[in-house]
Amino acid sequence: MNMRESINTQRLQALDSAHHLHPFADYRLKDSQISRVIVKGEGAYIWDSEGNRLLDGMAGLWCMNVGYGRKSIADAVHAQMLQLTYYNSFFQTTHVPAVELAAKLVQISPPQFNHVFFVGSGSEGNDTIVRLVRHYWDKQGSPERQVIISRLNSYHGSTMAGASLGGWPSMHKQGGLPIPGIVHIGQPSYLEGGKGKTPEEFGLEAASWLEHKILEVGADKVAAFIGEPVQGAGGVIVPPSTYWPEIQRICNKYGILLVADEVVCGFGRLGHWFGSEYFGISPDLITFAKGVTSGYVPLGGVLVGDRVANALIEKGGEFNHGYTYSGHPIGCVAALENIRILEEEKIVDRVRTDSGPYLQKKFEALASHPLVGSAETIGFLGGLNLVKHKGATVHEHIPFESALSVGMICRAHMFDSGVIMRAIPGDRLLMSPPLTLTHAEIDEMIKLIGLGLDQTLADLKQRGWV
Ligand code: PMP
Repeated sequence: MNMRESINTQRLQALDSAHHLHPFADYRLKDSQISRVIVKGEGAYIWDSEGNRLLDGMAGLWCMNVGYGRKSIADAVHAQMLQLTYYNSFFQTTHVPAVELAAKLVQISPPQFNHVFFVGSGSEGNDTIVRLVRHYWDKQGSPERQVIISRLNSYHGSTMAGASLGGWPSMHKQGGLPIPGIVHIGQPSYLEGGKGKTPEEFGLEAASWLEHKILEVGADKVAAFIGEPVQGAGGVIVPPSTYWPEIQRICNKYGILLVADEVVCGFGRLGHWFGSEYFGISPDLITFAKGVTSGYVPLGGVLVGDRVANALIEKGGEFNHGYTYSGHPIGCVAALENIRILEEEKIVDRVRTDSGPYLQKKFEALASHPLVGSAETIGFLGGLNLVKHKGATVHEHIPFESALSVGMICRAHMFDSGVIMRAIPGDRLLMSPPLTLTHAEIDEMIKLIGLGLDQTLADLKQRGWV
């Protein structure tokens, strides 16, 4: 297809700028920040309207686990649209895709999960979590257990409860958040807080903040702790190995529900179906979205563990919560086919035993680049920090001034060299590619990232910043 002939890029960009308010964007800049028009995806690659091919190192938005262009998912969706486009699961009705998907999710999830509540997105999933855990404690005769403890710099969505659980002050400022009963502790970022300690010591210290907070709030008022196994949007922050087991111990000690937000980590990203399994923890509830359908159709949900589900079943009383699109049949068939692909192609196992370790070796070698202070991966997630001068340890590197936005400059050079990474404040570049990458595609991605880094270095030298 000659996309340049069929697509008028300038027209689309003008209409986009005139009428389309993008998520997480500064609308004052919308006329000057022209958007790239993406027109096609195949495997790990996307194409823009100018014909540029880009290796999608972010799997869309952490979601295209099986890659773009899977005909079998499109076929399943097409057939279901003709069979039964929509029906709900309110008022004693159900439909085949929701039933089959619920059963499949129970089969692939850790043993404590036998029930699932469907939603349309990760944000809706976390809103459901807030209502569900408070409902649970109410039914347990402890309605005063309302407080949910989360972490600074975590991301849990953009709805009122999702953004409240998240730990971004920039989001809290808009809309009067957090909503009551949500408090935050520090994140387990060794780069941020681990100076002078081993990662293991720091992991225990970061987990101890949970216990301090529980004691400060009063254990009898705390309902749950929520965390992403690995913080994604906050910067691919890999917690030290001691962190999660200690968090689990503290939750058990005080009888507090443990919630894993697996919207990013679920469905193979860490080489297990769920990131909790990587860290050996047993959450009571899991939020999922994104990878459950590999982004082909919006769908999310909450896996409800036996502790909560059995209590609600036993105690009874309506849970007054649900969405028109809870368990949408089209999303459910996309998820079923997506999971079938993950199983048939042994993608989760490959990430754990083969492509993940290969990616780790290649990606971590980028730390030898003069601009890269540290580079680490876990499964198919990665992050690297750009620094002005390297010191003897990660805590002695000298960063660029934040006003220079070196991370964003680098991201633009990555685009020019043909690979997509995400830049976040602190000049950190993130990677979360499709789980299907072959060794050759990993080699290509690392080569393109290296090229982007070289171009950034040359650019910064020209500006006199290094
Ligand atoms: N939780 C996590 C960990 C996420 O990364 C995201 C989205 N990036 C969400 C929740 C929110 O999901 P959604 O955008 O589908 O509402």
